[in-house]
Amino acid sequence: MEGTTAQVQHYRLYINGEWIETEESIPVTHKYTGKVIATIAKAGKQHVEDAVTHALQTFRTSTLTPSERSDILLAASQIAEKRREELELSLVWEVGKTRKDARGELDRVINTLRLSSEEVKRLSGEMVPLAATPGSENRLGFAIRVPKGVIGAITPFNYPLLLSTHKVAPALAGGNTVVLKPATSTPISAFLLVEILEQAGLPKGHVNIVTGSGSQVGDWMLDDPRIAMYTFTGSAEVGTYIKQRSGLRPVSLELGNNSPNIVHEDADLKLAARQIAQRSFHNAGQACIAVQRIFVAEAIREAFTQKFLEEVRALRVGDPEDAETDVGPMISEAEAIRAESWVKEAVEQGAELLHGGVREGSLVYPTVLTRTRPEMKVNCLEVFAPVVTIIPYQTIEEAFAAANDSSYGLQAGIFTNDLNLAMRAAKVLEYGGVIINDVSTYRNDVMPYGGIKNSGLGKEGPHYAIEEMTDLKMVVMNLK
Ligand code: NAD
Repeated sequence: MEGTTAQVQHYRLYINGEWIETEESIPVTHKYTGKVIATIAKAGKQHVEDAVTHALQTFRTSTLTPSERSDILLAASQIAEKRREELELSLVWEVGKTRKDARGELDRVINTLRLSSEEVKRLSGEMVPLAATPGSENRLGFAIRVPKGVIGAITPFNYPLLLSTHKVAPALAGGNTVVLKPATSTPISAFLLVEILEQAGLPKGHVNIVTGSGSQVGDWMLDDPRIAMYTFTGSAEVGTYIKQRSGLRPVSLELGNNSPNIVHEDADLKLAARQIAQRSFHNAGQACIAVQRIFVAEAIREAFTQKFLEEVRALRVGDPEDAETDVGPMISEAEAIRAESWVKEAVEQGAELLHGGVREGSLVYPTVLTRTRPEMKVNCLEVFAPVVTIIPYQTIEEAFAAANDSSYGLQAGIFTNDLNLAMRAAKVLEYGGVIINDVSTYRNDVMPYGGIKNSGLGKEGPHYAIEEMTDLKMVVMNLK
């Protein structure tokens, strides 16, 4: 990292442990004030090639032992803890995340580094009972877990520090090296992460950062056959493109959702209203598992709606740096205008606005709609904004069918006090995860996390990501 002026930091590419300057740079803005807070170097094709060359050389020659990898990841989690205030503020500025949301992201970054460190100690293969097959009596067989090589990691704007950590930490834990391309609008976190890893003792070449637009830098990464695997978090559209472009190489894709949450007639309404209000609008609704469609049993619709609106009215909207703020700006004014237009379109098509529908620059006030139809954008697409819809249902079967009527399948939530119904929901809801008596937004990094349908392929959470980023290699000995 290099500073150019006292205020505006300049970040160069990070290749083979060196900070590399390029001809062009890209500004990074404070998402609430709009001021330029940093500039980043824009990578060219040759930089991407160099990053992959060094990542591959490092992979082939690295002398890091598993215990050293584990120690580095643990040290990194301790350094992140010590640098908390600075990292939190960086998230507030570059994403527009509230203090509360930034703190939550940082807790998970620290935990993900720690879990990855612990997982290194559990990496193992298995004995294969070859001798039990007639004719193989003198064969000894075992499968060892080996790294794949260079992992190409591409991350989105909304949780820049956590999602970079979700890819880099398991990749290193498994013995791989990484070329990371963060989102252009929030790239600073990736630089802070490598700084932390460097401070923790990670030798050069293990993690490399190339910054620039997805359509250029991302494409050059996809063109390079020396990258063994791609791990991507972002939109279904780009995820589909990456899958098409990566040929036979494995991909892990963590994509979007239009998360359904069911509030059944026997639910604890206070709990449901509070959790849904808190988790629909955090990060200004820009979370892949943010609550979007709220299915409410007709019998309790009125009572739930009143309680929910009370909670929503209490949310504070505004400057994300203010410790009391609950909902900050969206990533850009353009995105806020897009969200506003979807709300307006729904209202024009007959939806009723119960709360919000107001935009000031990139701030979108928590917005609650009802009387929507499934084909409206606010329901059938990923809204990725602080906008929810309340959809009444008569029977639970109707709610399950409507919840499943989605091209996505990441996580769903249900509030009910009926154990049998909860277990049936777990079975029937076509999602990668079903959360009972909490919202679809619940995530803990020890979980296998990942979607079905257009929500993606593969699982994250360090334990599961390491499995994806390693192979089982078979060794057979012919004993004489
Ligand atoms: P995006 O798909 O626009 O961009 C993600 C990354 O892909 C960025 O780094 C971008 O530069 C890069 N990219 C764009 N075009 C590319 C191309 N042609 N080739 C290679 N890379 C390319 O997503 P976004 O707007 O940054 O993030 C929002 C999306 O991310 C939402 O859909 C959200 O649901 C999803 N998301 C999913 C998860 C999850 O865990 N499932 C978590 C967070 C966000």
